[in-house]
Amino acid sequence: MPQAYRNLRDAPHPLLDCAAQASCNSFNRWTFPLNSARQGTQTLGKTHASMPLKAAIVPVTPFQQNCTLLWDEETKQGAVVDPGGDLDRIDAAIKKIGLTIEKILLTHGHIDHAGGAAEFKATHGGLPIEGPHPADKVLLDGLAAQGLAYGLSGARNVTPDRWLNEGDTVTVAGATFSVLHCPGHSPGSVVLFNAAQRFALVGDVLFRGSIGRTDFAYGDHDALIEAIKTKLFPLGDDVAFICGHGPMSTIGDERKTNPFVA
Ligand SMILES: [Zn+2]
Ligand SMILES: [Zn+2]
Repeated sequence: MPQAYRNLRDAPHPLLDCAAQASCNSFNRWTFPLNSARQGTQTLGKTHASMPLKAAIVPVTPFQQNCTLLWDEETKQGAVVDPGGDLDRIDAAIKKIGLTIEKILLTHGHIDHAGGAAEFKATHGGLPIEGPHPADKVLLDGLAAQGLAYGLSGARNVTPDRWLNEGDTVTVAGATFSVLHCPGHSPGSVVLFNAAQRFALVGDVLFRGSIGRTDFAYGDHDALIEAIKTKLFPLGDDVAFICGHGPMSTIGDERKTNPFVA
């Protein structure tokens, strides 16, 4: 959850600028080729992709977390990132786009990101779950309890099939993402970076104009600032990112204007 949004009601609704909100399709509106979010020339993935990955954001849970679908437009193979809850909405988006989901990726262990992962896995043939960093095990082991505390039904504890560490790589439909361990918002937060498409998934590490909250259990403000400055900023100003809440941004915009780290 963003630092600025101490009160859930203060958080902007991601569809607020949609003219016909009631009838607005909440995921199609967000469907875009990843390279459209940045300026400059298109760089295609080296491994397999003849066209870049596409993404769609499905806001889930009362926290309006940006559950993200990533896929190869040609094969319709892809991954779901942070299925925190509202699995019916995620499933509807998957069906509408026509995707075959191959894996679940988790950026960190907070309930709005990971609360629905175990159920999603169970209802999709036991898909593998990759991430976050093992330092978030304590959070993943407490998801059911977090659910009770927040009044969110259906949250389950989850154990990933693969923990992610600094320097690891993950693949989505043949495209490679490198793993950056960025503690501070949570001890095991990871950022996934696709160098070929100049794109990152940053979870709740960095937001447009804000940074992740560090007043939760296991938060560490100094560690978060250091991770942003020493791991995210060096990725390059042209790198676009999807964050856990709210609109996309670029590393350059945040490096220059974000009041928490500029
Ligand atoms: Zn969050
Ligand atoms: Zn979080």
